[in-house]
Amino acid sequence: NTQTALSEAKNSGRDTFRFFDHKMSENARQLLKLEQALRTAISGEGLSLHFQPKVQLVDQQLYGVEALIRWQHPELGPLSPAVFIPLAEESGLIVEIGAWVIEEACRAMVRWRDAGLAIPRVAINIAVQQLEQEDFPSWLESVIKNHQLSLDNFELEITETGLMANELCALATLSSLQEKGFRIALDDFGTGYSSLSYLRKLPLSTLKIDRSFVMDMGNDDTSLSIVQTIVQLAHNLKLDLVAEGVEEEAQARQLLAMGCQLAQGFLYYKPLPEDELVKLLAKS
Ligand code: C2E
Ligand code: MG
Ligand code: MG
Ligand code: MG
Repeated sequence: NTQTALSEAKNSGRDTFRFFDHKMSENARQLLKLEQALRTAISGEGLSLHFQPKVQLVDQQLYGVEALIRWQHPELGPLSPAVFIPLAEESGLIVEIGAWVIEEACRAMVRWRDAGLAIPRVAINIAVQQLEQEDFPSWLESVIKNHQLSLDNFELEITETGLMANELCALATLSSLQEKGFRIALDDFGTGYSSLSYLRKLPLSTLKIDRSFVMDMGNDDTSLSIVQTIVQLAHNLKLDLVAEGVEEEAQARQLLAMGCQLAQGFLYYKPLPEDELVKLLAKS
């Protein structure tokens, strides 16, 4: 009868709730452990940078590299930044990690210079929490000076998804970075909620077309149209344009025909450990 059905539903509801509750605290515990391990990694070992080359589509000449963080967890092995960067952003650890990335990138560039190599422009991913630090521009400038590097050696990659969280503060920091002469790229372009309004507000030098559009370009007319439109947009706004996630020759040909000049993707290079990048720099 209805009464029994109701009370059964209630009970099972409670069980389900208990089950989720247990699952959630288990999850939370694991996240906390991961966070602690990450904290240890920042001050010790386990973090490193890989560098993924960007090329000119027309002749595959090296245009620059993007620094991408890697974490070798002591027990779990290599963990993807797609997993631990969001965790670091939630816990605020991203500010320290971001500082480590910048300093390590500078040390790597000094090693390349000392080896007599031409330093390629290094793009660094910057999280919005870093932009919320008011002294970030002057701190960054001083780190670069201390390594006797130049602002031209750098590009800063930001995503709009992060920006929305604390727009005013982040925008002020970005303006001050631009005034100092930093190049700023909008990463994963097209995936945020208000890409177009950001184009008006942000002091940008480069757009990076998100790889989801590039991937679908060959079998989906809508993606193809979106890429064409972004190429035109970048051209009209006089911004550099990088296509992310180029994996196939056909994509490269199409992009080049549309007027896109720069690309980054497995077709050319995967993110490389430093010793492999050094070999590449020595050749080019
Ligand atoms: P992102 O900045 O958009 O970086 C590009 C990502 O696309 C990298 O993933 C790269 O390995 C991947 N990729 C490049 N070419 C291809 C391709 O042809 N096919 C496919 N399937 N993937 C390709 P990764 O290294 O796993 O990094 C993921 C994300 O983690 C980055 O996306 C960035 O948002 C974040 N991240 C990485 N390093 C840092 C860092 O130092 N600081 C911050 N704040 N975020 C970082
Ligand atoms: Mg990036
Ligand atoms: Mg990207
Ligand atoms: Mg991304």
